[in-house]
Parts: sequence; structure tokens; C-alpha cells
Amino acid sequence: MAMELWLGGRLATMDPTVAGPYGAIEDGAIAVEDGRIAWIGRTADLPGDLARRTAARHDLAGRWVTPGLIDCHTHIVHGGDRAAEFELRLSGATYEEIARAGGGIRSTVTATRAADEDTLFAQARARLRPLLAEGVTAVEIKSGYGLDRETELRMLRVARRLGRELPVTVRTSFLGAHALPPEFDGRADAYIDFLSAEVLPAAAADGLVDAVDAFCERIGFTLAQTRRLFEAATARGLRVRLHAEQLSDMKGAVLAGQFKALSADHLEWLEADGVAALAAGGSVAVLLPGAFYFLRETRLPPVAALRQAGVPIAIATDCNPGSSPVTSLLLMLSMACTYFRLTPAEALAGVTRHAAAVLDLAASHGTLSLGKAADFAIWEIERPGELAYRVGFNPLYATVRAGRPTSA
Ligand SMILES: [Zn+2]
Repeated sequence: MAMELWLGGRLATMDPTVAGPYGAIEDGAIAVEDGRIAWIGRTADLPGDLARRTAARHDLAGRWVTPGLIDCHTHIVHGGDRAAEFELRLSGATYEEIARAGGGIRSTVTATRAADEDTLFAQARARLRPLLAEGVTAVEIKSGYGLDRETELRMLRVARRLGRELPVTVRTSFLGAHALPPEFDGRADAYIDFLSAEVLPAAAADGLVDAVDAFCERIGFTLAQTRRLFEAATARGLRVRLHAEQLSDMKGAVLAGQFKALSADHLEWLEADGVAALAAGGSVAVLLPGAFYFLRETRLPPVAALRQAGVPIAIATDCNPGSSPVTSLLLMLSMACTYFRLTPAEALAGVTRHAAAVLDLAASHGTLSLGKAADFAIWEIERPGELAYRVGFNPLYATVRAGRPTSA
């Protein structure tokens, strides 16, 4: 592919080796070749031979450019919705009470099992589009509403298909250990055995699994069960991540750190031992302000302790029907700042550089840097902080993926 130049932009590279907030380069230029960044810097420093080899030029007209945004935690493939449960909860029932009464996740499992592949695809595509319209170029998608072999694999196939048919990089997580299916009532250990021996191997054999996730919680799986699943995953060479410390301190983050997990997610109840374990394990802390908001939680994740320990922080929608029916990553930037007191620069790093690390894509995505994928979002804003500041306003001008403007 011939070289193309993007000139006259203000680049929020998010590259920590570029000095200053947002790794900003004023009057910046990006040269793209074969879908990758072949040169990046000040327009004035553009090498002459490179300018002569250029087949096409695009004027950024002073607009800000960020890396393509990355939503690193979603359950976007699922059947149906839980709007009725939302109404129930507002008449007094708690999330845990609804879950224990067989509602909650199980009602989505029923709807997902009943939905064929095309139906799941169409519903997920409709939820993905508003994210793409906000400059998202990579997304993580979990299974976890099938809880049987057939439906778990179907969800993951739908996730892969979304990545093929839409302009977005999709990374999958196998979340069979999301909830206990009715067939295994009272037999959680047997279910973990079933996942480890049958479902995970089948999904991995079909190339459907990029990472393995679990829900370690009173209403999910115990620490010992999570450990056994992690052992099965790592035996297959798969990286792990974990829903941890959302509703109580189960020491999930300690386990995640021990397994050098890609991430531990939620973390409102994270204690000092968990922070230390994440730091030691090189894991990212994924904060999910949409679930915090929707469940009307009040306990804040320990952001100051995470900062102090040098644990990278990512932000995601947690798009799911029960606790975070959210399809706006820009809104999550705002909530990460207002609720969790992240700075706008930290929040933006949380949906670019650190989110790429969660998806094990740090070498190729997440910053505007030489050699990385030419995935970027172009914004009609005066400063990058506006992305976290406005609520309900989408200043996206265009999205470029692998060097090509996209239309979703
Ligand atoms: Zn989740």
C-alpha cells in the first residue's frame, strides 16, 4: 500500500515516552503505510523523502487526534434485555436478592440460549454501533450467558463475526464461570470441572478464546474454584483476568496477581494486599463506573492506592444487560472522573494505552507510536480533556482504522 500522510493535527499520542500531558504533539503529522504508523512527529520535522513518496494527503485542520478508543470489558453479546428487572429493582429489590431469586444473570442465560447466531449478532451489532460512533476501534467481548458448551461457543463465534464484519478489532474472553447454570445447582465444583475439561478446550480448539475470565464473588465462584479454572487456562497457555472485589473482598485480586492476570476488574472492595498483588503481577486495574452508577454503589475503588503502587488503570463500559446497560465509552470517561476522581488524562489513558494492555495488544495498539496500527480517532475539540468533560455530546469527526477512514 502506498504511503498516506495525515498533516496539521494536534496529536494526543498517549505515548509515555512523549513528554507532557497526553504525550501531545502540536502541529503533528502521521505517515501511514500498510495500515501502520510509518512516521509520527511534528509536521515541520517530516523527512523530505517521505513526503515525496506520499500518495495521498489528508489535512487534519488543527483537529485533535487520539489513538482509537478501546473498550476492554464488555458483555455486548447477549440475548434480550433486563428492563423489567430494572423496574423491579426500583421498587426495592437488590441486585443480590434478584440473583438469588433466579432472576438476574439466569434470565439472560435463558434468553441467550434461545437466540440463534444471527439474532445474537444483530442485537450485538446494534449495541456496538454507538461505541464505534465514539471512535472505538477495539473491543473485548466475553461469553458467559450460555453456561453450556453449545451456547458459550455460539457467543464467541458471534464475537469473532463482529470483528470480521465491522471495523473493529475484537478480543474474546471465555467467561463460562460467570454464574452457575441451573443444571449444576449445588454443584459448582462439578461445573468448574465441566468448563475446564469440556467447554474451554472446545472453544480454544476452535480459536475462539483470547483470554479466560471468571466472576469471583459470593454470588459467583469461590476463590478456590477460580484458582482451579485459572490453572486449567494457564495449562493451555491462555492468559486470565478476573471480575474481582465488586461486592465484597474475596481476595480475587490477590489470586489474579499471582497468576499475572491481564487485569482485575471492578475492585470497589479492593484492599492493600490486592493492590500489592496487582502491582507485583503486572496486572491492570479495570474500573467500571457504569456498573458503579447503575447499581448505585457507594464504596469507591482505591484509586489513590493504585496510583501509588503504579498499577495501570483502565476504564470500560462493562456493557451488559443486568448491571451496566451502557454503550457510551465517552460517558464512562466522565463518570471515571466525577465518581472515581481520575484526571481526564488518566481516564483517556484508561481507554487507550492501558486498555490495550488488558487486551494483550500493548505492542500494537493503544498509543500513536511508530510501528503501531494506524487506528485513530479525530475530534472536533479544543483540548483532550473535553472528551471526559462533556456529557451526552459526541465530538467525533472521523475514525481511521488501519489507515483507512471507517464508516460503521
Ligand atoms: Zn463484567
